[in-house]
Amino acid sequence: MFGSRLRRNNSAMKLLVIEDESKLAEYLRKGLSEEGYVVDVAHNGIDGLHLASTGDYELLVLDGMLPGIDGLAVLTALRQSKQTPVLMLTARVQVEDRVKGLQSGADDYLLKPFAFSELVARIQVLLRRAHPARTEAEPIQLRLGELELDLIRRKATRAGQRLDLTVKEFNLLSLMLRRQGEVISRTELAEQVWDMHFDSETNVVEVAVRRLRSKLDQPFERPLLHTVRGMGYVLEVRET
Ligand code: CA
Repeated sequence: MFGSRLRRNNSAMKLLVIEDESKLAEYLRKGLSEEGYVVDVAHNGIDGLHLASTGDYELLVLDGMLPGIDGLAVLTALRQSKQTPVLMLTARVQVEDRVKGLQSGADDYLLKPFAFSELVARIQVLLRRAHPARTEAEPIQLRLGELELDLIRRKATRAGQRLDLTVKEFNLLSLMLRRQGEVISRTELAEQVWDMHFDSETNVVEVAVRRLRSKLDQPFERPLLHTVRGMGYVLEVRET
């Protein structure tokens, strides 16, 4: 059911937020991560431009007023080499600034303060515009036997019974479901679902897998989530 065309969609889209107000930056990082994006944050224009030029981002959320070099300068410099979609944030309400931003190559504009839901909606529009094939290929539902995931409503059911999952558990399950039958390592799960890029002592993945299992498998006869010792986890229907 899931061919190579869908395989490309496994990894979450990576966004870069360039914002110097640390509270807002953290709020965006957390909120966008919960929306399923992988989010990096830069707190000034210089770091932001460096990351944006060297990193592999699908979209930038760029604050207009930044220490070091401001948002417009970051954008102008970035556009010399990259066409990554840019959503600019600004506290400035002047029309000239808006025009300047768009002329410098911003793809969209959002005035502060903004509603988080509007930010997410604009990001989705820009990503869809930039990756029409990718978003079209994105399935709405994922299935494995009696397990069903509705990616739009973010609803998981098994044998018609609703599974009450946290955001991370849902993301974990949807990643494993997209790659059903494939052993996925703890390190990869930590990177993809938690955006953790270090060899850590924490057992965050194991704990989450255990919780997920208690909701996904425990009430049912046949387990779907299997541990492959020393390698990771796999989601599949096994013949008994
Ligand atoms: Ca600022």
